[in-house]
Amino acid sequence: MFDKIGVGLAILYIFSSVVHYVEPRNIRTVPKSDDGAKCGYSSCHPTKPNMLNVHLIAHTHDDVGWLKTVDQYYYGSETRIQKAGVQYIIDSVVESLLRDPEKRFIYVESAFFFKWWKEQTSEMQDQVRMLVNEGRLEFIGGAWSMNDEATTHYQSVIDQFAWGLKQLNDTFGECGRPRVGWQIDPFGHSREMASMFAQMGFDGMFFGRLDYQDKDERLMTQKAEMIWHGSANLGDKSDLFSGALYNNYQAPDGFCFDILCSDQPIIDGKHSPDNNVKERVNTFLDYVKIQSIYYRTNNIIITMGGDFTYQAAQVYYKNLDKLIRYANERQANGSNINLLYSTPSCYLKSLHDAGISWPTKSDDFFPYASDPHAYWTGYFTSRPTLKRYERDGNHFLQVCKQLSALAPKRSEEFDPHLTFLRETMGIMQHHDAVTGTEKEKVALDYAKRMSVALRACSTNIRNVLNQFSTGPVSEPTSQRPFEFKTCTLLNISSCATSESNSPFALTLYNPLAHTTKEYVRVPVADYKYIVLDPTGKSLTTQVVPVPKPVAAIKHRNSIAEYELVFLASNLPAMGYKTYYIQRDDSSPVNIKPTALPKRESSYTVIENENIKLTFDTNGFLSEVTADGMTRMISQEFLYYEGATGNNAEFLNRSSGAYIFRPKDNNIRFATDHVTIEVYKGSLVEEVHQKFNDWISQVVRVYKQSTYAEFEWLVGPIPIDDEIGKEVITRFKSDIKSEGVFFTDSNGREMIKRQRNHRDTWNVKLQETVAGNYYPITTKIALEDTIARMAILTDRAQGGSSLEDGALELMVHRRLLKDDAFGVGEALNETEFGEGLIARGKTHLFVGQSYLRADVSLKAIERLVQLETLLPSWKFFSNMESYTSDQWLSSFTNTYTGISLVLPKSVHLLTLEPWHDNELLVRFEHILEKDEDSRYSKYVQFNIKDVLSAFNIENIRETTLDGNAWLDEHRRMEFVPEPEDEAYEAYATISESANGGHLLSGAKPMLGVEYSKERLGPGELGAQSNRLKRSANAGHFKLHKRRQQHVDEDSINVSLKTDDRAKYLIELSPMEIRTFVVYLAK
Ligand SMILES: [Zn+2]
Repeated sequence: MFDKIGVGLAILYIFSSVVHYVEPRNIRTVPKSDDGAKCGYSSCHPTKPNMLNVHLIAHTHDDVGWLKTVDQYYYGSETRIQKAGVQYIIDSVVESLLRDPEKRFIYVESAFFFKWWKEQTSEMQDQVRMLVNEGRLEFIGGAWSMNDEATTHYQSVIDQFAWGLKQLNDTFGECGRPRVGWQIDPFGHSREMASMFAQMGFDGMFFGRLDYQDKDERLMTQKAEMIWHGSANLGDKSDLFSGALYNNYQAPDGFCFDILCSDQPIIDGKHSPDNNVKERVNTFLDYVKIQSIYYRTNNIIITMGGDFTYQAAQVYYKNLDKLIRYANERQANGSNINLLYSTPSCYLKSLHDAGISWPTKSDDFFPYASDPHAYWTGYFTSRPTLKRYERDGNHFLQVCKQLSALAPKRSEEFDPHLTFLRETMGIMQHHDAVTGTEKEKVALDYAKRMSVALRACSTNIRNVLNQFSTGPVSEPTSQRPFEFKTCTLLNISSCATSESNSPFALTLYNPLAHTTKEYVRVPVADYKYIVLDPTGKSLTTQVVPVPKPVAAIKHRNSIAEYELVFLASNLPAMGYKTYYIQRDDSSPVNIKPTALPKRESSYTVIENENIKLTFDTNGFLSEVTADGMTRMISQEFLYYEGATGNNAEFLNRSSGAYIFRPKDNNIRFATDHVTIEVYKGSLVEEVHQKFNDWISQVVRVYKQSTYAEFEWLVGPIPIDDEIGKEVITRFKSDIKSEGVFFTDSNGREMIKRQRNHRDTWNVKLQETVAGNYYPITTKIALEDTIARMAILTDRAQGGSSLEDGALELMVHRRLLKDDAFGVGEALNETEFGEGLIARGKTHLFVGQSYLRADVSLKAIERLVQLETLLPSWKFFSNMESYTSDQWLSSFTNTYTGISLVLPKSVHLLTLEPWHDNELLVRFEHILEKDEDSRYSKYVQFNIKDVLSAFNIENIRETTLDGNAWLDEHRRMEFVPEPEDEAYEAYATISESANGGHLLSGAKPMLGVEYSKERLGPGELGAQSNRLKRSANAGHFKLHKRRQQHVDEDSINVSLKTDDRAKYLIELSPMEIRTFVVYLAK
């Protein structure tokens, strides 16, 4: 059925001439069986046009780790923590589906599904294939996990969708391809996620959690379903139909028929004294009628399921069967309500077929609040070291993908190792993994998984780098001269090879598609070292002592007292350079670094040709000079005291893993005096600051750099006063930002924020700090007409601008109470028997906001953002068996996989092995359209020139996930309502629904008494700032469908037919293009 509609409506890509140079192997599709696959929109049960159709969605929400580890959830162990076993769920659902073709089920998390799938017999697999082909079992979402949207980076989100969808595609073909996004549990929703869904070809997305005030407003104005503009740069190809579910993702109160629930079954024994059919059906239909008031069409969606439901599927299904039967029997007596087994995509199709137009939205759904004192902004920072480790995992995954693809000779174990890391990173994106909202034991399990997966992939890398460095010799990797070890503790200046071996080799692998330079720091035991580059040239070096607070970390097991610094320049694109580093007592090059004499009475300055930082006599940063102006900019550490309470009512909410709630708005200073040491040399100038016993920092400025680096060390956060603390770094400037600041969305486009404001409703904030916090994946900034200040982070953090000119980032938190959203533990992380210590970096940019002579500051920030996300990876090898001459003459010490270096505005986002003799490649324009007059322009290049290391036979463009041909893919199109007609066209209702459901977090607030702080009309709840009209929900205005149109961005390449033109790629600002590249065998 969709084909008929789809062709009429879909965006028409004039694209077919791109293909068929040689016959490409198609992305696998399951051959149509004789009776024909009847999946997707054509498998939907029919609705009744004159009735209210109630789409019942049988579903289970299976967290890929939360209170239990991934495996504990899968196998169902640790039942005392939670009665949840995913293997039983899938077993049981499949059995029920096989028994009755009427039933439907959706499954979401590919990480769990494929674990189950691999354990099945081929007979069972065939039966499941049949269920999928008939649309009875439908995959929704389909990524490896249901990723968080606040703390995840877009690169990792795309990767984990691509991987999940690839398994579905390889296993089930077209019928396994999800059409609808299903983000029912993540704690707020990002605009970038909407954009990615759209670019992956999804027709729509449903979600569960939005601010309770926003939800109230949207329900009252029938705007819970909308067209979301996912990008300010990409036009309507980033538009996504998005719907907020009425009751998060739970069944209506009293209708959870699962064995996990205690609600009454439907008792229909004719003579049973317990017969409750009439009462139960009445209650359900009453609920249905209320819900339907808030939505526009004569269709509503009701989720019948919850966390780990359907372990005994027949129990749920049996009662659903009865509910449907007895409710629909009333149609004979005039009921106009029709219940049916459905799926989110069938519901979406009904919305589409209603032929009406829809409201639009351009901002995002952050921050999420579930009640007046529960702002889910704590998890933006929770578990800072796990958040950083996850980012390291992404970095290493990209290196591993590239090198596995570039390998001259591939080994058998390459694919399983790479897959292991891919899947582990997929799990890490889950909304209770990288978010830090899992139990401590589960967090440790995630970290352990990552550690094992990183080790697996490092064997691929060692193999490939040895092939490049030493030639294709046949002995096993372990006997090769280079170890290519990763030192995982470089962030506390610890590395066994560099400390203990001399000489040693340092190989820097640059995963970017352009040449880079970077300052390298290597932990060493002494200060007399020489560094040779691959031409044998001795480089300028500088030695800086390891900061005292770092050296003093108890569990640091290292003899390194210094860091050896040098500039690695011309690091080849997607390639490496190896340096030979040797201790040399005779060398006069390095002298023992000593701190500059203390001058209590005067200011301290560190500087280079671009930027100068001044510190006052108390040791605090006080001024920054850059771009020909001096601005007052201070930086300090402060902390909030976490609120504590019994969580029995809103006012008594504790700050916890999810929730950030400061006890009061009196922020505490870490200190009023900072002790400092200053080190200056030819490459870097540093101020080592010690704020107190548990906060210290190094502020540094490298030669030629346009920014300053702040490397902070926080912890163990003291709790002997029995007060939980949430630590922030705050940069205060004299920039007149007037309440406005900018935060990134998953590391991509910037979104404008205004203090105490939401774009689409009049917000009432009872939490003026927490309610102004936003997720910072990579960047926060503010500016006035003259000056601009931007900060890059090295991991996801919460951040805000609570005063004009000031930016703050929460770096670490340690709390003593649970916030009662289910995790059941205080966020009190410990390591080595003490509170957790975290270390990280922020980069500070200050300069002219608009009148910069050369490249704009925004463009520089973008480039640095990329280079700090994916710097070179450091590999260490003992070289004690080789003199420098032998090293120079025996090995290949530079390599590049790219012959045409890409323009700096282009990022080779992905290069990885895909199917046999295929690569998956993504190119990305990293600037927004108005960020820089030069760098924001369209760019054009030839793929063959870029990837000359490969013998390319053909390419074909795909959707963003790499699993569907772009030229063949069609999306449902929804019609936006004209802005000025928005309120004329629809009825709105003037009363809020009975408030309870609007206020509940889906993870239950234990024993909460809503009534104590229920919102009266016009108080905290929704208030439309527009005129409300009286109820008349029956009148919908129909808008004509839009005409077919050509996506203008897509034409340029396709109309040219010669071979060269085929490989010519053009990118507009923020555009990502994805290709399957076919290699000659
Ligand atoms: Zn969940």
